Amino acid sequence: MTKQTDQEIIKGHLEDSSNLPGGYASGLYLPKNEHDIIEAIKECQTNKVPLTISGGETATTGSPIPFGGWIMNTQKLNQIIEINEKEKFAIVEPGVTLAEIEKAIIKNCLLYPPDPTEKNATIGGNVSTNAAGGRSYRFGPTRNWIRRLKVVLPSGEVLNLKREVPSPQQLVPNYIMPKIKNAAGYYSKPGMDLIDLFIGSEGTLGIISEVEIALVPALQETIDLVAFFKSENEAVDFVLKEKTKQDKTINFFEYFDENTLQMLRGSYPNIPQTAKAAVYIEQESDDPTYWAEKLTGECWFATDAKQKQELQTFRHAVPELINELYKKYGSIKLASDIAVPTNKFKEMYEFYASHLAAHTPTLGHIKFGHIGENHLHVNLLPKTEVEKKLAQEIILAYVKKAVELGGSISAEHGIGKIKHEYLKIMYGDSGLSEMKRVKSLFDPNWILGKGNIFS
Ligand SMILES: Cc1cc2nc3c(=O)[nH]c(=O)nc-3n(C[C@H](O)[C@H](O)[C@H](O)COP(=O)(O)OP(=O)(O)OC[C@H]3O[C@@H](n4cnc5c(N)ncnc54)[C@H](O)[C@@H]3O)c2cc1C
Repeated sequence: MTKQTDQEIIKGHLEDSSNLPGGYASGLYLPKNEHDIIEAIKECQTNKVPLTISGGETATTGSPIPFGGWIMNTQKLNQIIEINEKEKFAIVEPGVTLAEIEKAIIKNCLLYPPDPTEKNATIGGNVSTNAAGGRSYRFGPTRNWIRRLKVVLPSGEVLNLKREVPSPQQLVPNYIMPKIKNAAGYYSKPGMDLIDLFIGSEGTLGIISEVEIALVPALQETIDLVAFFKSENEAVDFVLKEKTKQDKTINFFEYFDENTLQMLRGSYPNIPQTAKAAVYIEQESDDPTYWAEKLTGECWFATDAKQKQELQTFRHAVPELINELYKKYGSIKLASDIAVPTNKFKEMYEFYASHLAAHTPTLGHIKFGHIGENHLHVNLLPKTEVEKKLAQEIILAYVKKAVELGGSISAEHGIGKIKHEYLKIMYGDSGLSEMKRVKSLFDPNWILGKGNIFS
């Protein structure tokens, strides 16, 4: 196994997309197989050295950033072990990226549906954060697509976990989770299996060494369009109304507010000048007339593969441009990742808007994301220390409101090292104690993922 203690090399593993500063580590493991993982974790266990796992290092929460101890990066665990076209599954090592999986399975006309935006993320990272994507509206998050996991525990023991084998009750936490999109803290559900516990555990319970994912046939014809609206309210109401039809052919509704469009105009000057919001829709259908008849404003329809790719690039540009702004302003990411029940979404949206209106134009902000799942990222862009404090207060107010409405404080990015306070608001002391109890069962010396989920 490769081990590195050269600080120049380690430096390349002290950042993710949260902009969280101050990470440091004494060494870096680059395992090439499961045996290397076991050797490394046993070494850390013997010396009581903290170990932080990292994959693509694209997290938005600081979760792959070490604060002491060693790092284990999975980039050399990058083999696609099997693609089974007939039974529609693939077995991959944890360091394989989403881009590599998509490229490999499309040759067999197969699709891995969750579709998180960042394709340099690894499947191990996606499992550990229960990543979701645009198409999670129709297909659900990563959790729904994991058939089997191999996990190396902090003791060095290897678990090969299959679905449909309920976990012993004492190994899983006991509290009530909201029945909506949620990636906050450990999963808890009566009769759950251990796969579900490891999904979303942010590298704190074990090291994922192999993943079996379920696949579906590639989508048939899709209609892809971006509809522009004259006001944000008009766009939000349009989606809420369309959602009541519960059309199972719609893959996603994605939202862009006025400031998102303004940011995008730098690269896309063809965005209509009168547009104050937009909704990106993908539907498995070959009949665009349904939307053409409904939408009165300007609309971009993608009719061939090239145009569809262009719309995807347009959507994917949003988080990338926002992350560049955080870098430019020298601020850690200060963004909500909140989802609420459908019948509370309008109230939450109005709460976002009223708080933002009170502080505009000084504090920059951008609302975008997975409106189909009542889940928006409200990015606050502070330029000064005073604005940073204000942004933190605003997000805290959003978190409290979301919990009051039965929502989740993190629908897809997880807690990492920057949202501990929000997790406590969501589950209270008793919920956190349950999580700590489970953590101690798997990792009695608390060496894995130090600072993730728990402060
Ligand atoms: C431009 C951009 C767009 C994004 N869009 C989305 C999106 O649409 N949806 C979404 O959910 N997220 C999104 N993200 C966030 C990020 O891509 C996800 O959180 C992703 O799942 C992280 O994967 P990674 O391989 O980069 O993991 P890392 O960032 O390296 O690590 C993330 C967590 O996983 C743990 N981990 C990694 N590998 C393992 C392993 N083998 N075993 C145990 N633990 C492990 C780490 O310890 C850490 O806790 C986006 C990020 C960016 C920069």
